[in-house]
Amino acid sequence: MKIAVVGTGYVGLVTGTCFSELGNHVTCIDIDEKKVESMKSGIIPIYEPGLDFLFDRNRKQGRLNFTTDLEEGIKDAMVIFMALPTPPNEDGSADLKYVLKVAEDIGPLLSEYTVIVSKSTVPVGTTELIQDTIRNNANVDFDVVSNPEFLREGVAVEDFMKPDRVVIGTRSIKARSVMDALYAPLVRQGNPIIFMDEKSSELTKYAANAFLATKISFMNEIANLCEKLGSNVDDVRKGVGFDSRIGKRFLFAGIGYGGSCFPKDVQALGKFAGKANYEFKIVNAVMEVNRKQKTRLVEKMRNHFGGDLEGKTVAIWGLAFKPNTDDIREAPALYMIDEFIKSGVKVKAYDPEAMDNIRNLLGNKVELAENEYDALEGADALVIATEWPVFRQPNFDMMVEKLNNKLIFDGRNLYTLEEMKHLGFTYYSIGRSEIHE
Ligand code: NAD
Repeated sequence: MKIAVVGTGYVGLVTGTCFSELGNHVTCIDIDEKKVESMKSGIIPIYEPGLDFLFDRNRKQGRLNFTTDLEEGIKDAMVIFMALPTPPNEDGSADLKYVLKVAEDIGPLLSEYTVIVSKSTVPVGTTELIQDTIRNNANVDFDVVSNPEFLREGVAVEDFMKPDRVVIGTRSIKARSVMDALYAPLVRQGNPIIFMDEKSSELTKYAANAFLATKISFMNEIANLCEKLGSNVDDVRKGVGFDSRIGKRFLFAGIGYGGSCFPKDVQALGKFAGKANYEFKIVNAVMEVNRKQKTRLVEKMRNHFGGDLEGKTVAIWGLAFKPNTDDIREAPALYMIDEFIKSGVKVKAYDPEAMDNIRNLLGNKVELAENEYDALEGADALVIATEWPVFRQPNFDMMVEKLNNKLIFDGRNLYTLEEMKHLGFTYYSIGRSEIHE
């Protein structure tokens, strides 16, 4: 099948690459000329494990192509995916200008029946809006389908190739059969393609993200309570997670959720619920808990140092919003860095993949270290913000050598209380006893 993907970011590039791997002929279109040039010359603009191999193979075999020209890119495409940004407006609602601009542009370019697939996370009713926008300019038959994406950055290729389920919102029999054929190779193990109407499909994506964010904020509140009552959140987590009604995943306490999806989607859900005259009370609480949790370690450090952090130097391990990605959008580390800078703290930071992104965002506001140990040189404390595997079993002797104090604020509970006590660290974590040496 000939496929076009408009918007070649985290979702678009994975979608395009994976469909080309299945033998389809895919053209990825993006307005960012630098990005397109880089992809044409074989360089992937994002870090996503496993993507480079598939990207190389399909690009070299001519199944995966790139252009900035929408007309050239969608020519003869049977299916056009829209994987465009839907960032928050100032009031928290989803900004649809990228999606609707492409919808406007696509209309006059269609020359035969085409299925246009909205992969972006969009408020309920947007698929219909896209349909109306295209219809105003198009002279041929087409369908607009809602097909929200559930991939996780860091394991995006695996998620795309082996989805738990595929959700497709359409009431068109013709579009349904096209989508069924397209996704068939990805659901051979029997995972379902769930067909529904467009509005239910759009809401499914928000419901999934908001539910997961709720799980995180709920456990973070349990962790905060553990600290007050002397319980250990890691034990509580196991105790509840083995209940099959609850499940083990997404129960780790930490310093809040970040990334390009949960924060904006939870907020947008609250907004469009409000527009429909429904006050979605839980999402407001989830956001408030998360906002506070992101700077919880700064609060702990301030208390440790008697209220004043002026003149201190802090090392931060991990800047990406989670491991195995270079994405720093809404990362808890950014919120902490902001607080530290406001409090007169010098920040030295290291992340295995996100250094370029942080350099572009913050310039010389933070000192970027060569590796995790360099970041510790002369620092008064270490803050762990992202649970990269490489931080799990570090060389503690070298850490002690480089740090001014044996002091760790761990936002991801990477180490056991016993080992920290044994090593003589003063150790603050989330939802567990503090260790003071
Ligand atoms: P992104 O910002 O990484 O990529 C979007 C791309 O669209 C950019 O490369 C941008 O240059 C391009 N673009 C903007 N306007 C364009 C235009 N007129 N023509 C062509 N290209 C244009 O975004 P993303 O993370 O891939 O997210 C895309 C959508 O998917 C969002 O709605 C997001 O909420 C949703 N989503 C994201 C994830 C994720 O993990 N990142 C997961 C599921 C769903």
